[in-house]
Amino acid sequence: MELPLDNEDDFLYWKYHPSGKYTVKTGYFYLSKELGSNTTNCVEREQEFIKLIWRMNIQPKWKLFLWKLSHDGIAVKENLAKRGMRIETDCDRCREGEENSQHLFRYCTQAKEVWEMSPLDVFPDSLGSISLKEWIHHYILLYYSEDGKQGGRWMRFIATLWGLWKARNARCFRNAVGTSSQVRDFIDAAIQDHEHFIYRAGILSEEEAIGRDDPTLPPGFICVQLGKERTGFDDFRVEVDGSWDKTTTRVGIGWAIKDNGSGGETGEGGKYGVAASALQCEAWACLEALRWARSTERNEILVLTDSLSLLNNLQGNSCKEVSITWCLKGLKEVGALFQRCTILKVQRDQVQRANDITRQCRVNVMNLV
Ligand SMILES: [Zn+2]
Repeated sequence: MELPLDNEDDFLYWKYHPSGKYTVKTGYFYLSKELGSNTTNCVEREQEFIKLIWRMNIQPKWKLFLWKLSHDGIAVKENLAKRGMRIETDCDRCREGEENSQHLFRYCTQAKEVWEMSPLDVFPDSLGSISLKEWIHHYILLYYSEDGKQGGRWMRFIATLWGLWKARNARCFRNAVGTSSQVRDFIDAAIQDHEHFIYRAGILSEEEAIGRDDPTLPPGFICVQLGKERTGFDDFRVEVDGSWDKTTTRVGIGWAIKDNGSGGETGEGGKYGVAASALQCEAWACLEALRWARSTERNEILVLTDSLSLLNNLQGNSCKEVSITWCLKGLKEVGALFQRCTILKVQRDQVQRANDITRQCRVNVMNLV
C-alpha cells in the first residue's frame, strides 16, 4: 500500500481484494490458502466460519449444530467417554472404529455410502488427514463462495450432516436399524424442514421493515481456549466483571462461581485498584479469577465475561491494546496452566453477581478474598 503524502487517519482494509472491501469469495481464497497454518490463523478462520454460519438464513438448531461440530462438542461416544461416562466407544453401525465425530460424519462406512449417493461431489478422503472441523469448513465455504447465499449445495451439505446425526440418534436411542436409506429419509425431511423455515422467514421479513443490519454474533459463540486442551467447555463456571470509574480511574473487580443448578459449591472474590481503561479492568478481573481458581487447585474452568473487547484482544485478530499487554500475557500464561481454560463471551445479565461485587469493592475500597 502506498504511503500518503499528508497525515491521514489509519483505516482497516482487506488486502485480498483490490477494493479493500471484504467479499466471501476472496475470504475463502484467503482461508484456503492459509489452511493448516498456525493457531492464530486457525482461530481467525474459525471466527470467519462462525460469523458466516451466523449470517446464514438457516434454523437456529442448525447453527448450534454446526457450532458444536466446530468445537467437537457433539455427544458422540468418544466424547462422552472422555467426560467420564463408562460406555463402549465402538461405532455400532460398522464396528470398524471408535465413534468420534470424524468417524461418524466422514469415515464410517455408512457416512461414505451416504456421501457417495449424494448429488454433492463430496469425498470423505479427498482432503487428507485434516480435522472434521476443517473438512466441514472447506465444503461450506466452497459452496457458499460459489453458489452464494441462496445456493442449494451448502444447504444440502448441512442437511446431510444433520441426517447422519439424526439417524445415529435413532439407532442409539430408539433401536432403529439406521440403514442408509433411513439416513436419506432424514436428509429429505431436513431439507423440507429448511424450506419451510425459509418460506416462513420470507413471510415474516415481508411484514417487517427490510434492511436489517448484519446480525451480530450471539453470546456463547465467541470464546477463546487458553488451556492445554483446546476443545469443549468445563462445568466449573466462574463469572467475572470489572467496573471502572473514568473520572477517578478507580476500579473494582469481582468473580463468582456460577451455580450449575445442582446446588454445588460457592465461592467468590473481589479487589479494588486503579486502571487506565475499562478493558484493562476486565482483563485484570479475568486474570485474578484464574489465579484464584488455581489457588483452589482447579484444573479446568469456564470463565464468563461480557467484554467482547477482551475476547478480541485475546484472539489476536484485532489491534492489541498496548495498555493491557502485560495483563494479556499473564492471562495466557496462567490459562496455559489449566488442562482446560475457556473464556466465553456472555450477556451482561449473566455476570450480575460479579458485577455486584465489583461495585462493592470499588465504592468501599475493599478487597474481598
Ligand atoms: Zn462406523
